[in-house]
Amino acid sequence: MKEWFTINKIDDSTYIISEYRHWEETHCYLLNGTEYSLLIDTGLGICNIYDEVQRLTDKPVIAIATHIHWDHIGGHKYFPDFYAHSEEVHWLNGQFPQPLDTIKEYVTDRCDLPDGFDVDHYTFFQGIPTKTLVGGETINLGGRSIEVLHTPGHAPGHMCFWEPVRGYLFTGDLVYKEDTLTAFFPSTDPTAYLNSLEKIAELPAEKIFPAHHTLDIEPEILFRMRDAFRELDANGKLRHGSGKFDYGDWALWL
Ligand SMILES: [Zn+2]
Ligand SMILES: [Zn+2]
Repeated sequence: MKEWFTINKIDDSTYIISEYRHWEETHCYLLNGTEYSLLIDTGLGICNIYDEVQRLTDKPVIAIATHIHWDHIGGHKYFPDFYAHSEEVHWLNGQFPQPLDTIKEYVTDRCDLPDGFDVDHYTFFQGIPTKTLVGGETINLGGRSIEVLHTPGHAPGHMCFWEPVRGYLFTGDLVYKEDTLTAFFPSTDPTAYLNSLEKIAELPAEKIFPAHHTLDIEPEILFRMRDAFRELDANGKLRHGSGKFDYGDWALWL
């Protein structure tokens, strides 16, 4: 049987920690600087990601979720030093709009669960961030700087992370392929989604690192997604309830 976590190396100081045994195929990213490491998303919370991270860095780890959805904060309990966006801090304090029972159904859906896992013990992480972000900040890891971009749409406090020196863009749930991007929940905002795509499509990204599914994804998709959103907008369809749209290697649910 496959291990729970699959580790891939992007370069000597950047790693992908993937969870392929769950249908969401979640990816977390570990960025090592000379003073700190940054863990972008902490996964599903089904297995212990802390042990994996410890094998890949000896620096203090700051955790940062692209957004406060269950599949991105599952391992936050292991990382007391974590940052969150101001628009989602209340989701870490009792006000997340979906009930825990629904989240538990997502967790066990189409998943090759590890032996001994008991969904009754699954919790939605709650806590107070060590730093609250609004977007525009730079996180300095020592010899390595990561820019915080506020990119709402999928979630109100969604953030993408941009490393100009390496041309890396970490896109969270704003941009991925092979499955449906979601902007139909009441907490999503299709117009903000377009504005966020406009913003990140301007960046000279060399590599795209999504939070789910295939890693075979190129920066050109940013333009295709932006253009598709523009067209939906021009046709009056960029709104909740307008349905599902299939673009071949990606899709959208509004
Ligand atoms: Zn999400
Ligand atoms: Zn997600």
